[in-house]
Amino acid sequence: MIRLITLDLDNTLWDVNPVIKNAEKTLVQWLREHIPASLDHYHKDTFIAFRDKVVADNPDLTHLPTTFRKMLLSHCFELAGLSADSIEEATEASFKVFHQARNQIEFYEDTLPLLETLSQDFSLIALSNGNADVQMVGLGNYFAAHFSAESTGKPKPDPTMFTAALNYLDIEPEQAIHIGDHPLEDVEAAKKVGYRTIWFNENHKQDANSCVPDRQVHQLNQIVSAIQDLLD
Ligand SMILES: [Mg+2]
Repeated sequence: MIRLITLDLDNTLWDVNPVIKNAEKTLVQWLREHIPASLDHYHKDTFIAFRDKVVADNPDLTHLPTTFRKMLLSHCFELAGLSADSIEEATEASFKVFHQARNQIEFYEDTLPLLETLSQDFSLIALSNGNADVQMVGLGNYFAAHFSAESTGKPKPDPTMFTAALNYLDIEPEQAIHIGDHPLEDVEAAKKVGYRTIWFNENHKQDANSCVPDRQVHQLNQIVSAIQDLLD
């Protein structure tokens, strides 16, 4: 019997691209107003050089979105000549601005009806590599728990988050279905742990060779019947 549905967040329950774009814009506005000298350094060239350096030292950190962004901001403030104390304060303040904007989400049209329906019959747990916060985006009531790259230190496709969700309810993988948009990080990763999988393939990607979900849907409003189909 299926008891748990785990869901990816970014690009599964909303389109993340405009969200990040808006959060970047909000952050730059804040930097312009509060620490204008940092804007000489907060640009693509710095990002690439810094990312390369972090990858060389500790590649795992680039997959932890909050940690990495704070490191990047801190680096830019250092280049701008801020003192150590000011760097710490500015990093926390600027990240907070980014994070609040990053959690201003416009859901897909079918997201709330889907969660409303699923949460009546199953426990729902969010599993995300990004740094959205289910409480801040207003979905806290639907989810029993939320595991993320940041909270576990292990982004998908690592099995950690999937295992954590099973342990949270003390159930077996056969009792769980994972739904997500990413062929490897969602479908193949969940399958390896023993979950059944539904691939939300909104853009009709052709990844059939590398991604073999139990069911594939192109719209969120097809998910309830895909689950019903799996239960039959
Ligand atoms: Mg996703």
